Amino acid sequence: MSAMPKPRGRQFFANPGPTNIPDSVLHAVAHVTVDFNDPAFLSVYEGCVAGLKRILKTEQELFFYTASGHGAWEASLVNLLSPGDQVLVLETGYFSESWAKMAKDLGIEVRTLAADWRRGIDMAALRAALIDDSGHAIKAVCVVHNETATGMMIPLPEVRAALDATQHPALFLADTISSLGSLDFRMDEWGIDICVGGSQKGLMLPTGMSFTGVSAKAMAVHATSTLPKHYFNWTQMLARRHRSFVGTVPTSFFYGLQESLRLIEGEEGLANVVARHTRLARAVRAAVQHWSGNAGPTLFCQNPERFSDSVTAILMPEGFNADQLRALCLSRFNVSLGGGLGPLNGQVFRIGHLGDLNEPMVLGTLATVELAMQVLGVPHAEGGVGAAIKALG
Ligand code: PLP
Repeated sequence: MSAMPKPRGRQFFANPGPTNIPDSVLHAVAHVTVDFNDPAFLSVYEGCVAGLKRILKTEQELFFYTASGHGAWEASLVNLLSPGDQVLVLETGYFSESWAKMAKDLGIEVRTLAADWRRGIDMAALRAALIDDSGHAIKAVCVVHNETATGMMIPLPEVRAALDATQHPALFLADTISSLGSLDFRMDEWGIDICVGGSQKGLMLPTGMSFTGVSAKAMAVHATSTLPKHYFNWTQMLARRHRSFVGTVPTSFFYGLQESLRLIEGEEGLANVVARHTRLARAVRAAVQHWSGNAGPTLFCQNPERFSDSVTAILMPEGFNADQLRALCLSRFNVSLGGGLGPLNGQVFRIGHLGDLNEPMVLGTLATVELAMQVLGVPHAEGGVGAAIKALG
């Protein structure tokens, strides 16, 4: 019996997180062990704190956790809320549901502002919900800036405007896990109280470190919060030399972060990073829109004002399985695509176009998807790659 030969060549990794790690970041992470109180490390660490604050566009507090994004989600809830407090979660998709479920499990009362996953929430409905809450029972509004499962971006300034217009005092919590370092994000200017970020997406680092930017208003609320917390407790963190990490500081992440900040700010420039993501995203969408011409796959997101520039979710035509397409791309062509999450499993595949990516990588992925559709007999209009090239030209 002859097994399928292992595909040669470098893998094209087109998942929406974790993302490609640049070689120079990989080398930087492979640093010898150092004492985390060593003055030489402290200077790297403090440089990273200042740099990440510039990326977040904040001058307020920043806390790190040796945990994936879920850890920072949990930290944001347990540091601000008390048992029975109410939060309003704006429904976007799989990740807003997961954050809501975590809140429920922690003893928080969750209200959900329902939305169609393909169009996103209606800001008028948000304003109505805030007006309706005249007793200000809602202590926090939780929003996923970029819903990685559906490829939709929620305009955070519009959420801030709704809070301001209704004079609602709730804290504004934003998950920026798949938007930071890819899409425009401005914590202080947009009046965000907590932003939740992770290492493995736009920052191009390995998975395992997350962080929260925290406003002065949120720090004041933290002082009264009674949900149980220990490792994630900001008060404990502030008492430490690093003003973060209740345990050992993961030093190798900071050598990596120092390098990724150099790439983002020093080599490319943050504005150019954002512009590159916009350009590549347009190319991906142009290809999908072209394929859809012959009853082919379509963009899952149906709201052009909210298209995500870091990930595109693609809905397969009726009767065709997205995971079969992904499996072929991986096993035969060495291209890794993201799968559909939750109820979208099997119906949707996702192309991540965030992090360390350029035109040939994106075009190679699109060409492979088109090839796989041909092999599997998935209906589509041929020439999606040409449409992507036109969008880039
Ligand atoms: N929020 C968003 C928007 C995400 O994309 C993810 C993961 O992909 C998470 C939260 C959860 O983060 P993690 O998997 O790092 O725990």
